Amino acid sequence: MTTSRTFTMIKPDAYAAGHSGAIIQIIEANGFKISAMKLSQLTGSRAGQFYDVHKSRPFYNELVAYMSEGPIVAMILEKENAVEDFRKLIGATNPSEAAEGTIRKLFATSISANAIHGSDSDENAALESAFFFSQLEQF
Ligand code: UDP
Ligand code: MG
Repeated sequence: MTTSRTFTMIKPDAYAAGHSGAIIQIIEANGFKISAMKLSQLTGSRAGQFYDVHKSRPFYNELVAYMSEGPIVAMILEKENAVEDFRKLIGATNPSEAAEGTIRKLFATSISANAIHGSDSDENAALESAFFFSQLEQF
């Protein structure tokens, strides 16, 4: 099996509530290796760029405001089948639909403030990683 990478962010709501440590513990306990990690805060403009794909959606402005309201923890994670397995670990976008034991079920407070991001494809994992980390920092 080959190791692959995904990108994640502990979102501002979860960071502010002091859940970063608990979330990182779950991530590591599920076999993901942290290969890069950074505490950062997005400007509105950078948050808008990160979620550009959702630009025409009704929740876009609220999403950009929420994602830039406080610090986030960005990480690159390594594991076999990282993207798919991590999406399973975080659970559905809407915490009311997220499976028991998933990070969103445990820590999300709403469909918007849903605690954590996970890339949805290998291609987006690479793009999102490069958005936060330079090549030098990654390796
Ligand atoms: N979001 C929202 N309202 C919605 C759908 C999504 O506020 O109706 C936010 C939520 O924070 C979500 C992010 O926009 O995580 C990106 O949406 P996407 O559908 O890509 O969900 P994800 O891939 O994060 O599960
Ligand atoms: Mg998505």
